[in-house]
Amino acid sequence: MSGPRSPVLKPQATIGILGGGQLGRMLAMAAARLGLRCHAYAPDADSCAFDVMHDFTFAAYDDEAALARFADTVDVITYEFENIPAETAAVLAARRPVIPDPAVLAKTQDRLIEKNFVAGLGIATAPFAAVGSATELRAAVSKIGLPAVLKTRRLGYDGKGQRMIGVEDDPAAAWEALHKADAILEGFVSFEREISVVAARSRDGQVECFDVTENEHRDHILKTSRVPAQVSDAVAAEARRIAGRIAEAFDYVGVLAVEMFVLRDGGGHTVLVNEIAPRVHNSGHWTIDGCTVSQFEQHIRAIAGWPLALPIRHSPVEMVNLIGAEVDDYARWLAVPGAAVHLYGKPDARPGRKMGHVTRLLKP
Ligand code: AMP
Repeated sequence: MSGPRSPVLKPQATIGILGGGQLGRMLAMAAARLGLRCHAYAPDADSCAFDVMHDFTFAAYDDEAALARFADTVDVITYEFENIPAETAAVLAARRPVIPDPAVLAKTQDRLIEKNFVAGLGIATAPFAAVGSATELRAAVSKIGLPAVLKTRRLGYDGKGQRMIGVEDDPAAAWEALHKADAILEGFVSFEREISVVAARSRDGQVECFDVTENEHRDHILKTSRVPAQVSDAVAAEARRIAGRIAEAFDYVGVLAVEMFVLRDGGGHTVLVNEIAPRVHNSGHWTIDGCTVSQFEQHIRAIAGWPLALPIRHSPVEMVNLIGAEVDDYARWLAVPGAAVHLYGKPDARPGRKMGHVTRLLKP
């Protein structure tokens, strides 16, 4: 771990959180239950995490004076947003422990570095090739074939910075549409299902995975998560092994999520890693209501230097995101027996914006 040595926190200690979205909000609520305080730092005045914080700083990520003041008021720093600029993390890490280690961000902020890292562990991914010039694009298309997905190396999320290229499409036009940003071309995977594993790792190397979750996306945005995933015990074990392996390879402390594709492969199945999120993850929201410990509490425990809890799921669970104007239906959800409604308090229900979620515990 870089920077100052991390203390084992005591109740009333303060955790700094970079990022002001719903993930920070739910982290702070989990921390409060454990007697810990949170101070969020985010560059948006209407950050929904600010509502539930002990303190917050509204400042830019490159405001060194504000970063220093923030660091001086907290005991450890974590993040809920993985596109924190490397310099921001470095300024903070010189003053306070930043957990997980910002070195992880350098590996996960760039899809090419991330894919090479995963492949280097002997873990399968979709075939991929780097695209940084028209020549490389042509070489990538002939290596990978079409259909394929062109993804910018940096700053892509919820389908942003991605273009599907069909067999009839012009790859050059797709790259043009991404403003010729450095990219990777990935083979299109006709997966049977998408799954994820949310894993926690403590400072002393204890790993606890939540049950494998099956995810359904709509317009590239997570819409529904169901647990348990409809996969064999062997696929579930493999998915958990992969998540644990990645956490160990990073010497990770905290919660991370690994998104994977499950493919039918002859009589069996293959698991490919699509993406790593070095933070709590939308596909783990079900753990708040569906499990003895939530992903948010596990993350807080890990960064506090506390032991992890054993996650035990109460029943089959379904989590549905309320996206954009869907949140206007909240009163209907409040009336559904057994539905746990979570609203993030965001002011503006723009299309594609995650406004809340609903978790339902289903009968076994
Ligand atoms: P990503 O931003 O990489 O997580 O991609 C968002 C979503 O796009 C994934 O969850 C998949 O549903 C779809 N997707 C991404 N990459 C591929 C691929 N190589 N083949 C098929 N679908 C993909």
